[in-house]
Amino acid sequence: MTQMTGGCLCGTIRYAMNASPILVISHCHCSDCRRTAGAPVSRSGPIT
Ligand SMILES: [Zn+2]
Repeated sequence: MTQMTGGCLCGTIRYAMNASPILVISHCHCSDCRRTAGAPVSRSGPIT
């Protein structure tokens, strides 16, 4: 397990978790992911 921390850009939300390292990152350009991310591409990775 690895300690990972993160949060939003304005700093209001912060989080910390213990999880296995993320080994796979995926990119998706479908219309649902573009709408959800508000960007031309969405990135995601599994957390176990
Ligand atoms: Zn998608």
